[in-house]
Amino acid sequence: MTDGTKSSVLHERIMHALSAIQDPELNRSIVELGMVRDVTLDGLAARVTIALTIPSCPMKGFFTETVPARVQSEVPELTSVEVELDSMDDDERARISGDVRGNVTPVGLAGSKTRIIAVASGKGGVGKSTVAVNLAVALGRRGLRVGLLDADVWGYCVPRLLGATAAPTIVGNLILPLEAHGIAALSLGNIIGAGRSVVWRGPMLHKALEQLLRDVHWDDRDILVIDLPPGTGDVSISLAQLLPGSASFLLVTTPPEVTQEVASRAARMLTDAGLTPLGVVVNMSTHICSECGHVQPFTGDRPGVAIAEQIDTRVVAEIPYEPELSNLSDASEPIVVARPDSPAARAFNSLADTIAGQPDRARRLLPMLA
Ligand code: ADP
Repeated sequence: MTDGTKSSVLHERIMHALSAIQDPELNRSIVELGMVRDVTLDGLAARVTIALTIPSCPMKGFFTETVPARVQSEVPELTSVEVELDSMDDDERARISGDVRGNVTPVGLAGSKTRIIAVASGKGGVGKSTVAVNLAVALGRRGLRVGLLDADVWGYCVPRLLGATAAPTIVGNLILPLEAHGIAALSLGNIIGAGRSVVWRGPMLHKALEQLLRDVHWDDRDILVIDLPPGTGDVSISLAQLLPGSASFLLVTTPPEVTQEVASRAARMLTDAGLTPLGVVVNMSTHICSECGHVQPFTGDRPGVAIAEQIDTRVVAEIPYEPELSNLSDASEPIVVARPDSPAARAFNSLADTIAGQPDRARRLLPMLA
């Protein structure tokens, strides 16, 4: 073999090794995405130039570690593998976002594989976001590819609950969600910046929600959990309009009758708007004594059952009061990760099993969307 042939065989093997590396945010081969700008060989010393989607890409470390390790293990005769990082220009970014978008059907549109589960409540403070986060993470831990969209535009707290507070990477016109605890997540809070609030109503909110659904790279996830704002406002109506017939919802309530009354109104509004009920989650249903294990119901008789019957569904989970939960949430540690054996985590896990085992009721009712 001539030196030229040897070097082109090595080059091909290096490209083969690189093609197995996926960009961690776009979940596509870096070769396919055109991120491998150059591979040069000086004898047995290789140099690989990778074009990052943006210069400040948070995944820099991933490339500087993974590329040499992978190439070196597949082409062991190389004496060294160096990585040089460059960044794409606007045209390249536009091409990449066009390619990626072209391969994925946006959530909620006909042909999308993603099952959509909105988590709703009547009142605030009943644990809706806690349920959304722990359900999403528990589903992710069952091997499903899960996204979590925080659509609680005024009271967003998913970034804090997951510890995913950074601004998202934007490639062309594609917004990349953040990864945390095994799921992809995005909140309006990530986009507008920590601590800021929005004063949008009606059309502005509709537009923002549309972008969060269509312009975010949800990438054919198995399930997209959406944390709705409490109550019966514009966001729920917009969501029903943007996802006609393809979204289902879980309704979270606590046992007091006054909370259940408000939850019942929200349930009616959501079903009227066209969302399919999946079940009622009764949060803080009982207090379990940490000393003796005695289970003490907080209040009321069969909480959640009347609402479930009203929307032709059932109580799918009862989550006990867990004194540690608030501290864990403040520390961005979902209880299903931090205390998987606690009664509350077990209840979230069993809710995830129920949801994962159900057919997509919204799709069953509207087979033309499948
Ligand atoms: P919402 O989204 O309905 O406004 P959150 O999920 O933010 O409610 O929860 C409100 C507060 O209640 C948070 O401090 C949270 O940690 C706490 N919380 C939620 N569920 C439980 C539970 N099962 N046990 C104890 N505290 C809980």
